[in-house]
Amino acid sequence: MEMVAAVLIDGSADRVFSYRVPESLRGRVRESSRVAVPLRGREATGTILELMPRSESGLPADLALKEVRRLLAEEPLLTASLLRLARWISRYYRASLAQTLRCMVPSAVRPESGRARTRRMARLARVPSEAERQALAKRAPRQAAIVDALLDAGGSGARLPAADFPAAALASLAGKGMVAIEVEEVGRDPYPEEAFVATLPQELTEEQRAAVESIVAAAATEDPKPILLHGITGSGKTEVYLQSIAQIAPTSGGAIVLVPEISLTPQTVERFKGRFSPLGVGVAVLHSRLSEGERFDEWERIRAGQARIVVGPRSALFAPLEKPGMIIVDEEHETSYKQESAPRYHGRDCAVMRARIEGCVVVLGSATPSLESYANTLNGKYSITTLTRRVDDRTLPLVRVVDMRIESRKQKGVSILSTPLRNAIEQRLERREQTILFLNRRGFARSLQCPACGQAVQCRHCSVALTYHKKDDRLVCHVCGYQERPPKRCPECSDPSIQFAGFGTQRVEEVVNKVFPKARVARLDTDTTRRKNAMTEALDAFRKGALDILIGTQMIAKGLDYPNVTLVGVLSADTGLNMPDFRAGERTFQLLTQVAGRAGRGDRSGEVIVQTFAPHSPAIQFARHHDFLGFAAQEMEFRQAFQYPPYTRAALILARGKQEELTRLTLATLHKKLADEPPAGVSVGEPVPAPLAKAQDHYQFQLMVRAASAAAMAGHLSPALDTFKAPEDVRLTVDIDPGQIC
Ligand code: ADP
Ligand code: ZN
Repeated sequence: MEMVAAVLIDGSADRVFSYRVPESLRGRVRESSRVAVPLRGREATGTILELMPRSESGLPADLALKEVRRLLAEEPLLTASLLRLARWISRYYRASLAQTLRCMVPSAVRPESGRARTRRMARLARVPSEAERQALAKRAPRQAAIVDALLDAGGSGARLPAADFPAAALASLAGKGMVAIEVEEVGRDPYPEEAFVATLPQELTEEQRAAVESIVAAAATEDPKPILLHGITGSGKTEVYLQSIAQIAPTSGGAIVLVPEISLTPQTVERFKGRFSPLGVGVAVLHSRLSEGERFDEWERIRAGQARIVVGPRSALFAPLEKPGMIIVDEEHETSYKQESAPRYHGRDCAVMRARIEGCVVVLGSATPSLESYANTLNGKYSITTLTRRVDDRTLPLVRVVDMRIESRKQKGVSILSTPLRNAIEQRLERREQTILFLNRRGFARSLQCPACGQAVQCRHCSVALTYHKKDDRLVCHVCGYQERPPKRCPECSDPSIQFAGFGTQRVEEVVNKVFPKARVARLDTDTTRRKNAMTEALDAFRKGALDILIGTQMIAKGLDYPNVTLVGVLSADTGLNMPDFRAGERTFQLLTQVAGRAGRGDRSGEVIVQTFAPHSPAIQFARHHDFLGFAAQEMEFRQAFQYPPYTRAALILARGKQEELTRLTLATLHKKLADEPPAGVSVGEPVPAPLAKAQDHYQFQLMVRAASAAAMAGHLSPALDTFKAPEDVRLTVDIDPGQIC
């Protein structure tokens, strides 16, 4: 029977061609095998999407098909389930399949790419006489050192890596025929499994045990519902994950644990490796700092079945495990699960989809679930299990809200540390306890603002205010990286009284150092952690008690678990509230709850001080009382009233171009097409300038579409977008289920 392969050719456009499978490849090619094929007189590479008997291919019987030339690798690119997931992602998020496959399996980890598997070795071709050796030592000490090293290593039979020696000296020795250079296959080191301290399973609390039981029970059923694990901060969710995996992984194809990149701290990695490595269950950790070679090795370990537990950020969802028994999404509400470039997939939603395809259980864990997931528990699509208490019944921290309107009147000007916060820090220093100060912003001062005309100095290429960085005395654009010297006068009205408005982490550090000169202070933000180990070092120092105060941005909001932290100060809770995004309240609630969760993890109870100009906003009040259900109930009413997700599905269409008018017009034309009698349940917003109206010299306009269901959305968007042709200078992107709107 003749077999035909439909091959997706590598490259951006989705071009699929049919080829005959030659006799020699029968039984070796599979769906998603990587192959080389002839294409227009040249050779192209591609991925087999489908294999079928010629009789079922629908191709005319007399059509002469070209043949697949060869297999690029014996291993297929993806498991069958992952190929199904790829098709779904490509369809749902409106990305090409080629693009989706590139994202799921980047070229560095493709089975065909391999890793340098040979190395050059030096061997003594002839053992020199003692006289020769001494002469060499006098004339050419480097060459003598090589000879000595080889002699020490065992003489004529010994081989040492050529890379260990200076190349010129080695070449001279080879020229004399004294040393031979040989190419050797590298039997790749088994992954150096670092020595992790074994962590033993904890005795579970009643609630934890119930959670593990319900997860394990679900895993044993045919097509389990997703489970939302709502557990307050410090309730021991990670222990629930660990013990569920311990029960499920051994009898299945393993487990995937997704965590936000920022929680991928050594602490987290240690908890997983320390629990499973001693049991002989390999744990693969994928994170953005791996080199391509290291990444390839981790994938190979997974493909070979040596690592059956995979921990990593959203892309770890595509790890090539055969039939995983469980998928966990920790901190499922995190915005970092959404990919910002095509395919614009949401890691959590794709995890739910992969679990459905694999028929395995998926656990979404959070102290502050997304309203999307919470709504799914109300409508019965997900089940929910709850941890209402902290481990050992430690109390939740007391949250005090400081009204900064009153403070700034008292202090005559905006202060960074209110009096209550200052006193609280003082107290901690006396008691030798630790403090975290949290600020949702980096840089020294937010911007240079002219008090006369109110203008903040803007980036020339983007419509955002520049941020002042004191160390370099520069204004920096946090969008495109543009920098300039701070002007002496307002660029708009030439007023000389231009001054700094707002404050950033640098400024906080300066004030803290001034007010508490004896305190040991460190700052963690994207500026200070650019160096590879900076974050680990600072956190280590903090953990060991070598620091009193840690100042930081988002980076320190999550996952950290330090028993000696008894005070958390939130310097400006309003930053997020003022964003023009329907999720602004939800984000603020989540952030405050997470930050507050950093306090009081030890024996002593914690305190949180929140500074705000909007003390009565619901997000702040519900966070203050640790009341997720209260917040969710009120927020759901608001979402329903305005028909925002989760009551609808949203899509954000963005037009981006160098010419403002053309860009605006393009989106307006598309809008007309979409808004012309939309079906019931679909609403099409007006095109407006994007919150970032100009970025890197490109103008941006956007419009939001909402639909009652995903099907209704696709049904309305697809016909309109598939036939719409934007001018060459304007790029249209569609973001399904957009994350942050601004
Ligand atoms: P969460 O992820 O819910 O914030 P963690 O899983 O980080 O909470 O747990 C908080 C702390 O409590 C950790 O130090 C963990 O080791 C500890 N812990 C978790 N479960 C137990 C338990 N059953 N008994 C004792 N300590 C526990
Ligand atoms: Zn810029």
